[in-house]
Amino acid sequence: MLSTHNLPSVPAPDRRRLRAFAFDPMSSRLSGRFLTLDIPFETGLKAGPDGELVQVVDYDATRRCWYQPVDLDDPPVLAQDGLRPSESDPRSHQQIAYAVTMSVIERFQRFTGRRFRWRGDDRLRLVPHAFFGRNAYFDPERRAVLFGYYRAGETDTEANLPGQMLFTCLSVDIIAHEVTHAIVHRMRPLFTIATNPDVFAFHEAFADLVALFHHFLFRDIVEEFVAASRSELADAAALLSLADEFGRSTGRGGPLRSAVGSEPVPAEFRETREPHTRGAIFVAAVFDAYLATYKAQIADLRRLATGGSGVLGDGELSPDLVRRIAGEAVRNADRVLGMVVRGFDYLPPVDVTFGDVVRAVVTADRDLFPDDAINLRGHLVEALRRRGIFPPGVVSSPTRRCCGGDRRGRSA
Ligand SMILES: [Zn+2]
Repeated sequence: MLSTHNLPSVPAPDRRRLRAFAFDPMSSRLSGRFLTLDIPFETGLKAGPDGELVQVVDYDATRRCWYQPVDLDDPPVLAQDGLRPSESDPRSHQQIAYAVTMSVIERFQRFTGRRFRWRGDDRLRLVPHAFFGRNAYFDPERRAVLFGYYRAGETDTEANLPGQMLFTCLSVDIIAHEVTHAIVHRMRPLFTIATNPDVFAFHEAFADLVALFHHFLFRDIVEEFVAASRSELADAAALLSLADEFGRSTGRGGPLRSAVGSEPVPAEFRETREPHTRGAIFVAAVFDAYLATYKAQIADLRRLATGGSGVLGDGELSPDLVRRIAGEAVRNADRVLGMVVRGFDYLPPVDVTFGDVVRAVVTADRDLFPDDAINLRGHLVEALRRRGIFPPGVVSSPTRRCCGGDRRGRSA
């Protein structure tokens, strides 16, 4: 007879897998593609979800009603990587908002090498159906991210049904962007005071960078883009742009913002004041550096695959080559975003400028990678300079120190 004594108890899992749209309902509708987010497993997670760092509060102030909260520990939900993403089920909206937020926080923790906590016992509240309107924003007073929902315009026939209800809380990009605002606010609360044009622009740039590089967490999706673009990731527009559905449904005719495509014009940075547009110049420079290092890192693979010429022939790339190139794309994304995030510790508490940011990023990176074998710092400083962003005292050479110059590091 089998004894049930002395058997070790089965430990709780380390990870929880949850499904989401890739990267919003419109894109999933067009591509048939979904994401599975892999996040830490919180034991004792209550319905909401209501966890240690994040609480989803699904009250709809416009309709004055509560939606039934999802219980992610419910066995049928647990057993199939969460609910299937659905625009008509508010519980899947709660699941997606929670999953993306936890994923962003975890990435932040990994780059900074320490546990992330809100102030005291605070948690970040996510309100997936906060109001009727074409917007989503982080509210520092309420320590909450408020997501709006709205109807697609009657003329929006591009990829949405005219008059269809659209939810900002279903866009992985919008969630990642807004949650990053909350994280930046936790670490630098005085960046809510615009003492110079770079302060808000930095908030926006940083939130966009985290959201864009979040795409690279999904290896199979990166492989698809590598194959489709024949390794020319600069052409992989959907991988390098944000909030396609939101952008199209709000009359932009394309994604909300894109990390690639514009030629560097230094004067643009001097003249641009609107925070999103000014921040987008910084983001574009970071992606210039990303693409330059990516290209250098896959050059050997391309040579190996082409008998030395590096010029890919016609036809599809071999799956092995796609896999190896996507591996480099993902690794490089991690390296570049990690570099920018780690610079945070070196930023001043108030009145930040992009000059300060460049100096902080370069200084933090030099501590960790003194030799900078792939010349990422050099590429970044050069890409920023070409777009008109540079602090006095920082030079492209990886061997020179970057202290000195005007302490305030005005960059424009
Ligand atoms: Zn923003």
